[in-house]
Amino acid sequence: MTPQTRTSLKELQQLDQDIAQVRSAVQELELLLEEVDAPVLRSEQDVKGLQKRLQEVKLVEQRVELSIEERQVRSKKLEGRMEEVRNVREEAAVHAELEMVRRALENDEQEALSLLDQIRRIEERLDEQDAAYQEALTEVEPRRVELTQERLGTEERLEELKEKRKTFAEGIDPSERRVYESIMAGSTGVAVSELMPDGACGNCFSVVPLQVQNEIRHGTGMIRCEGCGVILTPESAEGIARAEAENERIMEALELTEEERDVERAVVAEAIAAEAAEEAAVVEEVVETGLAAMLGDGGVEPEPEAAPGEEAAESEPEAALAEEEATIAAPSSEAAEDSTPMLDEVVEGDSSSDRPVTDDDAGV
Ligand SMILES: [Zn+2]
Repeated sequence: MTPQTRTSLKELQQLDQDIAQVRSAVQELELLLEEVDAPVLRSEQDVKGLQKRLQEVKLVEQRVELSIEERQVRSKKLEGRMEEVRNVREEAAVHAELEMVRRALENDEQEALSLLDQIRRIEERLDEQDAAYQEALTEVEPRRVELTQERLGTEERLEELKEKRKTFAEGIDPSERRVYESIMAGSTGVAVSELMPDGACGNCFSVVPLQVQNEIRHGTGMIRCEGCGVILTPESAEGIARAEAENERIMEALELTEEERDVERAVVAEAIAAEAAEEAAVVEEVVETGLAAMLGDGGVEPEPEAAPGEEAAESEPEAALAEEEATIAAPSSEAAEDSTPMLDEVVEGDSSSDRPVTDDDAGV
């Protein structure tokens, strides 16, 4: 993979990422437009529903009007027949029919009135709804125009980018383009990535083996990350600069925390010192009161702790033990010679002892 191909693939990826971004911007705008249009659409549907209902009712009313006309004609005819009747039976028959037609006519007229009333009410509601619709339309219109224009502009930009991408892709080696496109078809939308200055993949941050890093930096093969599969390219000057800026930012943040920690440490140290001073004061008090209690109790001086004499060592076993410890800690020839047999045993093997140990052991 030549440096030219590397740059080309990176540029292609930039174009693809731009296209993806613009495409999602178009989708977002479409969603926004739907949102803006939603109340207007609802209002429009209300108006349309009322218009349909109005038509239906008007149709029924027209039928009733027709029926009224027919019955009026029939009624006129029957009225004429009434004048031509020849006997009472005929008169009764015509009269009965006329009565029937008149009643039906009355019913029709009642129905027509009720329908006309319905029509009037529907028309009123339609006027209201239409006004609301027009108002909603006016209200959202500026936003709608704005969004529509924005969408048009974004769609144009998308077309431009697609065209540019097509031309650009034609200039890339087909086999390399196929590899690129097969990776791009994955879900991440990244197919080419720079090595990081520390030798990690710039996409998944897994560390690339040193030898492979060398191949990427100096070789010509197309090398893909073992971790995520992207094509790896050497770090570019701008990539390095970006990484350095990021490092600097991290270092600054660390320094800041370090300063904060120093302050924290100082506070803690102060607290510890204060506590220690307090404790010391308490201990002193306890010792003083303890001594006072002892003196007041028996009037006997406590044994001097620091100076157990040789006589004390002989007379008191406890003191002897103390002496013994002292001897072990700092063996001296004097102590070894002067001490009791018990002490002798303890210091056996001491180089300062004159007698061989085995003689003594055998004698006992
Ligand atoms: Zn990777």
